[in-house]
Amino acid sequence: MLQETERTGVISGPRQETGAEPAGLAIEELSHSFAARRVVDRVSLAIRRGEVHCLVGPSGCGKTTTLRLVAGLEPVQEGRILIRGRLVAEPGFSVPPERRRVGLMFQDFALFPHLTVADNVAFGLRHLDRAARDRRVGELLERVNMTAYAAVYPHTLSGGEQQRVALARALAPEPDLMLLDEAFSALDTALRTQIREEALGILREAGTATLLVTHDAEEAIRAGDVIHAMQQGRIVQSGAPAELYARPANSFVAGFFGPVNRFRGRVRSGLVATPLGEIRVARLAEGEAVEVIVRPEGIRLARCDGSRGSRARLVARRDLGPVHVIRLQLADGSQVKVRETGAIDVAVGEEVTVALDSRHLFVFPAD
Ligand code: ATP
Repeated sequence: MLQETERTGVISGPRQETGAEPAGLAIEELSHSFAARRVVDRVSLAIRRGEVHCLVGPSGCGKTTTLRLVAGLEPVQEGRILIRGRLVAEPGFSVPPERRRVGLMFQDFALFPHLTVADNVAFGLRHLDRAARDRRVGELLERVNMTAYAAVYPHTLSGGEQQRVALARALAPEPDLMLLDEAFSALDTALRTQIREEALGILREAGTATLLVTHDAEEAIRAGDVIHAMQQGRIVQSGAPAELYARPANSFVAGFFGPVNRFRGRVRSGLVATPLGEIRVARLAEGEAVEVIVRPEGIRLARCDGSRGSRARLVARRDLGPVHVIRLQLADGSQVKVRETGAIDVAVGEEVTVALDSRHLFVFPAD
């Protein structure tokens, strides 16, 4: 029998700034409705200079609307937005987008087709004299590794190269804040990782606060210093990827890190019965309907040796180097996914004994 792991469900609000330096971006209790429908609901977060935060959630949860409010593309109905300590928006007040010192990169990062790479990057630098502008363009192209392409037109570049130029263009006016909306999604997988790492490295180095919006949990986990998990307009949990992994606030966050096994049950005498055995739940009321989530790495297998534990039959296994991806059939006929990293000498068709690892087991009230 297993004890439910501690579930803090900490939902953090804006971070308190301890030093004198204000956050690169502070969003305070931001809400937004279209007609009567609230699509952003009391969102608060704060990003320090040089930090990358990811706003992640399913399509329609309100990510882009939040970004548009920060960029100044929508008027604020409720709440406040501060960029580097300067109030840029609250109800009835809005600093225009071009005066917010915000860089923007979207998935369709259209470069100006009639301008060369260098002129695209120079576009936001018209306030500088010719020599200063050329110098800055040169620096930026060097930083994104595109010096050799200064004189060419965008249509001759690959997607990754265009993305690098778009980044240089967005960085040119030295924004305090960079907003990236699915900015890497159009690139194929390998290139996406490379360009994203390069771009975020440059932004961190420049001390720019960055908010990356994505529906891709893996991208958020890899890229974010802090992840804000968003569901139906609300941030349901904020924290480092490892915090969300160890203490997910709800079933949605628990499912972020890859496929999971889900079971439904009811609390009876402090226990929930699952096909993997009974689980002790401390913090939920008697009779409450619950969802039990077990990560594939939370199911441990042993050869059947007469010891206690649930029995299961191994129905499939795939060996991926040190990791074995296994499918088990349980006594009730249902199947579960298992990820085993130890040596495992059980063949398809054989019976095993199953034990659960409480670090990968979560119990939440059922929706
Ligand atoms: P996606 O990942 O698909 O872009 P999202 O999380 O960015 O989704 P938003 O684009 O912020 O979501 O949209 C949130 C909700 O608000 C959606 O249901 C959307 O249809 C609605 N919405 C967005 N813009 C408008 C608008 N201008 N008028 C009316 N409804 C809108």
